[in-house]
Amino acid sequence: MFDSLSDKLDKAFHVLKGHGQITEVNVAETLKEVRRALVDADVNFKIAKNFTNTVKEKAIGQNVLKSLKPNQLMVKIVKDELTDLMGGDAEGVDLSGSPSVILMSGLQGSGKTTFSGKLANFLKTKKTRKPLLVACDVYRPAAIDQLHVVGEQINVEVFSNKEEKDPVKIAQGAIAHAKQNGHNVVILDTAGRLAIDEQMMNEISDIHKTIQPNETLFVVDAMTGQDAVNTAKAFNDVLDFDGVILTKLDGDTRGGAAISIKSVVNKPIKFIGTGEKMDAVDVFYPSRMADRILG
Ligand code: GDP
Repeated sequence: MFDSLSDKLDKAFHVLKGHGQITEVNVAETLKEVRRALVDADVNFKIAKNFTNTVKEKAIGQNVLKSLKPNQLMVKIVKDELTDLMGGDAEGVDLSGSPSVILMSGLQGSGKTTFSGKLANFLKTKKTRKPLLVACDVYRPAAIDQLHVVGEQINVEVFSNKEEKDPVKIAQGAIAHAKQNGHNVVILDTAGRLAIDEQMMNEISDIHKTIQPNETLFVVDAMTGQDAVNTAKAFNDVLDFDGVILTKLDGDTRGGAAISIKSVVNKPIKFIGTGEKMDAVDVFYPSRMADRILG
């Protein structure tokens, strides 16, 4: 469905034949192709532009190695740069608390409930971890039911209180329950809205300030594409989150949202969601993601 970047660069690079070096003049068309490829992969336009400027600085003056064609060299520079950009320490999730509290944030439909289940399921396999899932969505009873369904699937207890309308109190109740019942990880699944609004941000900010979780994760649908930048920034401004979970990478998106988010908030992408099932989760590998974005 997509032309790979190498194919596009092959076309753009015919001008470089016979030249031994990448120069500002002969690289212009190629950089345009790189930019187009990134925007096609849903990277935010401004970020794609900044990125190609960086690549340009790195590329100019480089000798075209005998072993590599100019387009291959360019793909290598672009890939290394992308990998660097998306890299950084993704040192897992902080499980040092007793219990360790993990707060999930993100828009409705981003995959918070599903990822909460996946994380609980993953931690459960480590014999020393006993997770508790907590339904902090006080607006949608269906969301609470959904978390119970997830909990049953993976055999993890779910804490909820449909009578309580204050998510902070639910979270506090859940932590007390966890302490009494030997749960050493508490995963707070919070309410999300379809778009960012002040009430939602105030609510999650209150939970964050009062509970002071060990780890705050921002869950984002990889198919959000260009919008991912605004959403990530809005959540990061309020929560200063620790890491990003990029979901729905099993879809046909190239996943350029990863670059946009990393450029804007500079937080590590920790895990990716690759399906609806509870085991469809993987650690984030920047170089694999760079390959996917470049095609
Ligand atoms: P929440 O509103 O943020 O809690 O989002 P949900 O966890 O309810 O997910 C919204 C929809 O996306 C559900 O239909 C999930 O099954 C689906 N979903 C979540 N993660 C993934 C994923 O990694 N891949 C796919 N294909 N679907 C996902």
